[in-house]
Amino acid sequence: MRCDRCQRAQATVHISTILHYAPSRDEHHFCADCAEVVQTSSPSLNPGGEPLVTLGSKVVTSFSPEVKARIKAANDKLSDLDPILQGFCKRRAYILQVIDGLEPQRTAWARDELYRCLWLSTDSRPPEILNRGFYPEMPWSLCAYGSSLFTPSRPRRVLTLDLFRRIPFSGLARLLDQRLEEGFAFLRELTLEGVLAKGQVVQ
Ligand SMILES: [Zn+2]
Repeated sequence: MRCDRCQRAQATVHISTILHYAPSRDEHHFCADCAEVVQTSSPSLNPGGEPLVTLGSKVVTSFSPEVKARIKAANDKLSDLDPILQGFCKRRAYILQVIDGLEPQRTAWARDELYRCLWLSTDSRPPEILNRGFYPEMPWSLCAYGSSLFTPSRPRRVLTLDLFRRIPFSGLARLLDQRLEEGFAFLRELTLEGVLAKGQVVQ
């Protein structure tokens, strides 16, 4: 599959945005370079202008079939958890973003005066995923963060809560729903004033 943006390189990052109130999903496919550009420039992929999640990786630009199969295995395993994430998003009117590729991850987010986001990502680095693909002890972390929206006149600030760190994949299904709710409870209480007063400045 070719990259949506440059139409040349192989697409290695696949992003689907799933709205709880719409039946269809919005899909984009990018090469690692374009994923990086799009991430910092596209309002639909990057609501609020946040440099949020690390999309793609410049480790390699094309993969052998064996390596592709390993990456796919890691992505497929993560997608087993999507019903939990979708259930949460539906209940809480959050938007689910599915990011497949060398750095598989999920975000569930909502935006009002703040950008409120739950972010599930693996602590396995891309070289490890290339070498091992999926493995049962593959570690995952979930954090919640609320950030002020981007404006030119003031720095963006963010308040973060770790919901779990480095949990092996085999333990995730048991924990995820409850921790998403804990993250939601944290995010729901955040106010713009609170984030501006106590949040860390991010670039
Ligand atoms: Zn491209």
